[in-house]
Amino acid sequence: MAGATWAATDTVASRARAAQALCCPTGHHAYAGRAGGHCYLNNAALAAETLRRAGASRVAILDLDVHHGNGTQGIFWRRGDVLTVSIHGDPRHFYPWFVGHGDERGEGPGEGANLNLPLPRGAGDDAWLAALDEGVAAVRRFGADALVLALGFDAWVGEPLGFLTVSADGFARAAEVVSAVGLPSEIV
Ligand SMILES: [Zn+2]
Repeated sequence: MAGATWAATDTVASRARAAQALCCPTGHHAYAGRAGGHCYLNNAALAAETLRRAGASRVAILDLDVHHGNGTQGIFWRRGDVLTVSIHGDPRHFYPWFVGHGDERGEGPGEGANLNLPLPRGAGDDAWLAALDEGVAAVRRFGADALVLALGFDAWVGEPLGFLTVSADGFARAAEVVSAVGLPSEIV
């Protein structure tokens, strides 16, 4: 899966507009030194770091998986060159518990480069897409050169272990919003 991530990153870095690495999951629960949530390597973080080394000066990660991207947040917690945005179920009532709250903003050079947008159980298209607008606005303000989209689909209303109730139409509208950002993008 990490190999697919690197191959897609090479494609984006060589000035393609977008590439998708078919590596499920995004790996977003894995920290630099700790696995978690069925994730061993953090593909979203690998993509962002590889894009940085390929010449992007600022990279944004937008995480739409229903679970908070705790590993991704942890990896870039003290870095100001990678913005991490996560839209997810409220961690007071949902995995990964304990982290993913709105007041976690990064530290040191990373202060302000982490944005959590937790949503209450049952929130649907309107709330989710409003959070997406807020996240995309943060990506624009950050001045990213490239975007990594951590695209779990488990915010879907039919997800057996679900928490949010996003419809297929909601995902289609999200695709329009994200593509309108107009950045070279990698989907993991
Ligand atoms: Zn998930």
